[in-house]
Amino acid sequence: MAYFNTKATIGVVADPILASKSDPLHMLQMVKNLKCHPVTGVTDDEILLRARNLAHLELFCGFLPIWKGKKSPMLKYGGEPNLSLQEALGFKPASLAVRSPNLLTLDNDKESSFDFVAQRGIDFTFPTWHIRRTDKEFRFKQVFYVPDELLAELPNGSIKRTINYCDSGLDVFLSNSCYILCDGEHEKGKGRYYSPNGLDIPDLATPPKEVWDLALEIAKGEPKSKTRKRYYNTKSRKMNPCIICGRDERLWCSESDNGLIFCMNGSTFSSEREHGSLNIGDVVNGYALVKQSPTCNTFKFHEPQKRHTPIRPIRRRKALARR
Ligand SMILES: [Zn+2]
Repeated sequence: MAYFNTKATIGVVADPILASKSDPLHMLQMVKNLKCHPVTGVTDDEILLRARNLAHLELFCGFLPIWKGKKSPMLKYGGEPNLSLQEALGFKPASLAVRSPNLLTLDNDKESSFDFVAQRGIDFTFPTWHIRRTDKEFRFKQVFYVPDELLAELPNGSIKRTINYCDSGLDVFLSNSCYILCDGEHEKGKGRYYSPNGLDIPDLATPPKEVWDLALEIAKGEPKSKTRKRYYNTKSRKMNPCIICGRDERLWCSESDNGLIFCMNGSTFSSEREHGSLNIGDVVNGYALVKQSPTCNTFKFHEPQKRHTPIRPIRRRKALARR
């Protein structure tokens, strides 16, 4: 398991050698068998290094496979558990995106955006994760890691997708519902996304004050969301071992704060390997199966039905009168 340094100002992923869920060597084989190469690199070593770097993001990000010639994901992702890199590659995408409640992205979409950030004292060369394009050097994204304690300073725990902030050409994202294209082919097929050496995923840093001030300013202008809780609800923690399938290595299975268990279907561990064939509603270890997908079975704490007590006529009359 990679060591994850949440206090770091640079190098959030402190141990870039060990991957978490996905096996980089297996991914190298997967990438080489694909028609499009969604992981940038020419030699095996380059692809392997890149796959290792990407796999670190699984600690707090989900991957999304992207259609060739488009910028849209190949599957619905809202409210769904995160896909690992290996699972995303299984869709044979042309490029890859990541999403996370902890990634703050400044997307410099026009030249004017550099003037805008410079005026605010933001260093657009600040070393963190940079996502560039081989065909357009002056369109790049700067990505920062925002730890949970810093997110708590935002009224909604996130900011809405902000396009062309103050007409500056700068886009700002800090939300699990935004996704960031980070590797593979650009939609027009001319360039590729890449990260220069020293400005790659292991260099991911927490935002300097000027950058965080910008995020706070955007957040202040947003109406307070009634669904603030959703951010917390979708937070989940890895289970060791998983209470459904018993997985105690390469921890994929997780439990959300609202009591859902996402038990992932692997070749060694899965809910059906442990408990036999399951149908929606089946109860395992006190949890009921509520959703099935090829990658994940979702369970919810099982509350036995309360004894049915008929409504007394007087209460029913009152209820009818209120209509
Ligand atoms: Zn499990």
